[in-house]
Formats: sequence, structure tokens, C-alpha cells
Amino acid sequence: MNYGGNVLRIVVSGAAGFIASHMCDRLLAEGHSVVGLDNLLTGSRENIEHIADHERFHFIEHDVTMPIDIEPPVDGVLHMASPASPKDYLNYPIETLDVGSLGTRRMLDLAHFHAARFLLTSTSESYGDPLVHPQVETYWGNVNPVGPRSCYDESKRFAEAITMAYHRKHGVRTNIARIFNTYGPRMKLNDGRVVPAFVDQALTNGAITVFGDGSQTRSFCYVTDMVDGLFRLMQSDERYPVNLGNPREMKILEFAEHILRLTGASSPIEFRALPEDDPKQRQPDITKARTLLGWEPRVPLDEGLARTVEYFRGVLQRV
Ligand code: UDP
Repeated sequence: MNYGGNVLRIVVSGAAGFIASHMCDRLLAEGHSVVGLDNLLTGSRENIEHIADHERFHFIEHDVTMPIDIEPPVDGVLHMASPASPKDYLNYPIETLDVGSLGTRRMLDLAHFHAARFLLTSTSESYGDPLVHPQVETYWGNVNPVGPRSCYDESKRFAEAITMAYHRKHGVRTNIARIFNTYGPRMKLNDGRVVPAFVDQALTNGAITVFGDGSQTRSFCYVTDMVDGLFRLMQSDERYPVNLGNPREMKILEFAEHILRLTGASSPIEFRALPEDDPKQRQPDITKARTLLGWEPRVPLDEGLARTVEYFRGVLQRV
């Protein structure tokens, strides 16, 4: 991919989703042209409303598991489509498996046909409930292949495998990002993930629902940092997976207290059952991204959360 000032035409699958819609913003800001695809199963038109009339943005409502011809030129394909919250992929397990398998194949075929670059957004769920901590890219993971989360984990692991196969067999210039927990504006209020759930509960004075005893850990990356990592990765020649995430790790109970402090809410904390196969710990080792891409997250948690809370306040006023 040539970034020497040329305008490139890039296909983004899942364009109406949370991270992909921010990626579209970044690509447009860099002067590129974007063809966004989304079947709106879990994505939302509101996420791309602000760019709908942009002269370099074109949206096609399309399920990427179905064939699609896009007229040339296509310089890059970013395959970002998938239900991504545990609640969403438990609601849509077959669709999740389809978009990771068939959908990835279709997007790879598109990239191959146009001799375009290809980037897959994979996930830290590839490591399952990790026994190596923090997680390095060379760790093969601890995934339950038949558990409730397997529809997501295994489809992304398949997606990684077929991406490597297209690189090895057809020479497609591929990249694989393993995305760790990411938060920010345009997350869905009701997608069940911990950030929208806790912020919603705090802003509406509902009980903060901590699953298990809250000792499980996560590490939260602000969305613009994530997009910057993806943008750098798509310009690199690294074929093997690269972790992208914020290494600042915290217990979920600690995170709940953080949200309470930040919003000034007096909601009680309520403990609920821990979902099956919920990973006990998660923290990216980002040495590879630092070395290879010169990338690391810059937005401090309090700043990112303040922007996110502001966004959800707006959403709550509209509902
Ligand atoms: N979680 C929680 N309360 C909620 C939602 C999530 O305690 O209302 C916990 C969940 O059990 C997990 C962590 O927060 O340990 C992150 O969950 P999320 O669904 O955001 O993403 P995951 O990292 O599990 O994919």
C-alpha cells in the first residue's frame, strides 16, 4: 500500500460497527476513499451518519458472507465485520461463525482479486482463558472449542488461519491484529460489555452489576489509540499477528469503583454469576507493536472514560 500522498480506495467491512466506524473516520481524514460494507446486524447507521454524505465515503448494506463485486481500484481490504460483544455473539453464534469463516474468505478473495492489501481484526479471545500472562503473540491460547464463547474464539482463530493460508498460497499481503478490550464513543449502550453496562448503570443510578467476585482482570484501550495501531499495522509487512491494546490492567471490581468515582454516582455494587468460560485475566504484551510499529496507547484511562461518559450521557438523553 502506497501512502506517498496518493488517494487509496479501501474497503472496510463492518463499517457501521464501533471500531470500524472510527477507522473510516481516520482513513477519510488521511485523504483516502472508503467503501463501507455492513449488514447492520449489530452495527448501526448512526455510527456512520456523520460521513454518509462525504464525497469519499460510499456505504453498501451488504452481508459479507455473500459474494460481492466492487469495481476497481481496490487498494486495501480491512475485514472488521463481526458481532464482538459476548452478548451479541451468544445471540448470533451462527452468524458469528459465518462472518469469521465465510466472510473472511470472501474478503480475502476480494483482496486477492484486486491485488489489494488485507487486514484482519482478530481478537485477544484467540488466547481464550490464557495460561500465559501477559499474553504474547507466540502463545497459542487456551480455548474451549465447544463452550459458549467458542463461536467467536474459533471463528477468529479460523480467520487467522485462512488469512495466513491466503498469504502463503496466493501471496496476499496480509496483516492480523489481535485487538484487546477497546472502549469509547459509539459502543452500543445495551451490548452487555462492561464499559457501556457500568456507565449506563452509573448514569441512571442503577446497581453496578459485577460478574463473579470482580477479581478477573481486563486492560482497556481507547478507540482512537486502537485505530492508530491498526492504521500503522496496515502499512507494515508483518504477516504474523500483532497485539493491539492498552497494557494497563485492572480488576473488574476496581474498574467499577473507577466508574463510580468518575461519574460521582452512588449506585450500589451488585455481584452476579460469572458467565461460563469468562477469561480470568487479560493483558496484552505490546512489545511487538512498540518495536515494529512505534505504537503505544496515548489516551489515559480517565480521559478516555470522560469522553465515553459524555457520549453515553448524550445517548441517554435521546432515548
Ligand atoms: N462484566 C461485569 N459486568 C457486566 C459486564 C461484564 O462484571 O455487566 C465483566 C465480564 O464478566 C468480564 C469483563 O467484565 O469479566 C469484561 O467483559 P466484556 O463483556 O466487556 O468483554 P470480554 O472481555 O469478556 O469479552
